Amino acid sequence: MSQGLIDLHSHTTHSDGSATPRELLAQAHAAGASAVAITDHDTVTGLKEGRLAAAEFDIELIDGIEISAEYSPGTMHVLGYFINTESVSLNAALVGLREARERRNPQIAERLQSLGVSIAYEEVERLAGNEVVGRPHFARLLVERGYAASIQDAFDQFLGKGAAAYVEKARLSPAASIALIHEAGGVAVLAHPYQLKLASLEEAEQLVVELAALGLDGVEAVYSRHSQAERDAYARMARRHGLLVTGGSDYHGTYKPDIAIVRGKGDLAVPYELLNELRQRATARRQAAKGN
Ligand code: AMP
Ligand code: ZN
Ligand code: FE
Ligand code: FE
Repeated sequence: MSQGLIDLHSHTTHSDGSATPRELLAQAHAAGASAVAITDHDTVTGLKEGRLAAAEFDIELIDGIEISAEYSPGTMHVLGYFINTESVSLNAALVGLREARERRNPQIAERLQSLGVSIAYEEVERLAGNEVVGRPHFARLLVERGYAASIQDAFDQFLGKGAAAYVEKARLSPAASIALIHEAGGVAVLAHPYQLKLASLEEAEQLVVELAALGLDGVEAVYSRHSQAERDAYARMARRHGLLVTGGSDYHGTYKPDIAIVRGKGDLAVPYELLNELRQRATARRQAAKGN
């Protein structure tokens, strides 16, 4: 029997999404979801409200996080699931990552100003309204002020890696990101592998093998912006190396207007069965840690 669809990748107003945790779960309920992971960048503060709303809408909530790891020239994000949100080491690391944002963000504002954009960083902070200010918030303001035609245009012109107002931020290494998630009792998954911007699937596979040696648990093959061919290829790649397959929309509300919760661009369908395997792996990891 099918247990419905799930979505293991979503962002709320606690990072750079536009929906509150309750709004997100209401939308997931309307889309027929049976389980949802909230995976805000660098914070777990949305999970408390998420838990209440999940009970209200009879949806299973998985405690998640998304961490940006050191990598170039593309982008590497690591998702953590079934994390203990009270973990001391996790929370200390998240404080450090948010401080790195606080160092970077005013520099982005300065770059923008030197490019003739009159936006004060305080305005971006006000718009974000939470402790995780990200580039999508800058993008929103650039659109509102007429400097960009869309969020995507703001990234292409100003904010994306390599663009004129791009500023690096301090990150954890891939190994440290994975270790941190494990330390917090979670399982670590490589997010949206297409964003690594590797030249071929062979190169991606080489990286997946390296990450598997570091303890990576899964690969987000079923992703809203992956083609069906990419979803199949990354899923086979993961299985070849004993890794799990996961899937999610990466819902950000109006910050990614083409992506809906649960259904992505309309063709996303992540089966509940994937979550069972992920949960088993998390349980096995915790039991192994206890034995140590
Ligand atoms: P930050 O955490 O501040 O570095 O911002 C990362 C977020 O910005 C990602 O989760 C995406 O939502 C978005 N983002 C990053 N790069 C791009 C891009 N090139 N185009 C559109 N959105 C992007
Ligand atoms: Zn984001
Ligand atoms: Fe991401
Ligand atoms: Fe994300």
